[in-house]
Amino acid sequence: MTIASQKTQIMVLSQWSRDAKDTTILMSGTPVRATPTVKLLGVTLDRLLHFGDHFANLKRKARPRINQLRKLTGHSWGLREHHLRAVANGYIRGAIEYAAAAWLPAASRSHLELVDRELRAAARAVTGCPLSTPAHALMAEAGLPTAEMRSATLAARMLARASALPAEDPLRELAEATVPCRLRNGISISCAVPPECVRSAGEHARRAAAEALLSDLPGAERATWVWSDGSANGGTARGGGGALIALPTGTEHTVRAPAGSLCSSTRAELVALRAALEELAKPDTSPDPDRYPTTIICLDSRAALQTVDAGPAAQSWPDGWYRSIFTDQTLPAPVRLDSREAAVDVHQLRAGHWSMSAQYLHRIGRRPTAACPGCADAGCPAARCLVCEEADTPQHVLLRCPRDDVVAALAAGFRSFQSRTTTPR
Ligand SMILES: [Zn+2]
Ligand SMILES: [Zn+2]
Repeated sequence: MTIASQKTQIMVLSQWSRDAKDTTILMSGTPVRATPTVKLLGVTLDRLLHFGDHFANLKRKARPRINQLRKLTGHSWGLREHHLRAVANGYIRGAIEYAAAAWLPAASRSHLELVDRELRAAARAVTGCPLSTPAHALMAEAGLPTAEMRSATLAARMLARASALPAEDPLRELAEATVPCRLRNGISISCAVPPECVRSAGEHARRAAAEALLSDLPGAERATWVWSDGSANGGTARGGGGALIALPTGTEHTVRAPAGSLCSSTRAELVALRAALEELAKPDTSPDPDRYPTTIICLDSRAALQTVDAGPAAQSWPDGWYRSIFTDQTLPAPVRLDSREAAVDVHQLRAGHWSMSAQYLHRIGRRPTAACPGCADAGCPAARCLVCEEADTPQHVLLRCPRDDVVAALAAGFRSFQSRTTTPR
């Protein structure tokens, strides 16, 4: 084999800077000097594996793409939201997260913030939310996971992969040596259905195939089994879920949980799953993790499994004023309205920073009065709703403003939603 010296890069991986000083090796007779970084398959590695250079490159890569996304939309015109989301997720987040499993879990908080800053810029382009919108609400409205969430998901996935390796594999040894015991065995999620489980095979054959699949799962013979089921009336209302927990010791527990008056069957299933996990986390229910390390949970909903598999970004909606009214834990849905202007209003109102409100404009100095050039005081007369003694914040507009045309517009909007979703009996 001939090695091309001009294509060879050298970097010394060492905590000691003097190890890396003036290192040169002869490659086919040509001296090759060690450099502080090397670029390998699109990832810039540095001597201490801090990835600072890599993050600086990411910023250079993301900026032009975010500018292109901005050119696809404005406050009152632009692509439909699902197209904007697709561009933000694929073209921008996809480019940022290239080979992320290699470097994102190792990133420091300040490096994660560098990525999040770019992702927030993309989220603002998708939603039309102003700069002052709280980050959690902004990211939820755009349906984009933060770098921190992705980092945790990738780390967990890596851990699950490492634990599935043969016992003597160095990566598995490393994972087992450094990870707290609760996560030691990792979590794997499967939507697999045996091919014999088709409806035409008949109930008996389907049951046998399902039982064979379950008994072949690793650790099945000494596992804690959880069977959960959630249901909602007509798929959308008065839901609830329950689960049966069968401990390897022979004891059984059942849990039940209401899922709210407006909910989907997927949500009901997830509520049942959470109730079961909370029950299992109780010290008097939880089986000894050293003797019985495996828990197998069987869900009755493929959509629920896929939601869990998609990671925390698809499941949790961080605190914000909007969530304090709606206890639902799922992310706000993409806005499907044809009008871009209306979609931007919806995002901004839900995120709590509405750029059309007098209160917002006054606060940023764009609505001065003779008495006050601009202030953040919600009690300032310049910040009020035209008819009420209260600032016209999103909370006021959606929940409290008694003006007849505001209430009538909300009612008309809700009625059109009802007529679209009601199926004739
Ligand atoms: Zn003021
Ligand atoms: Zn009002």
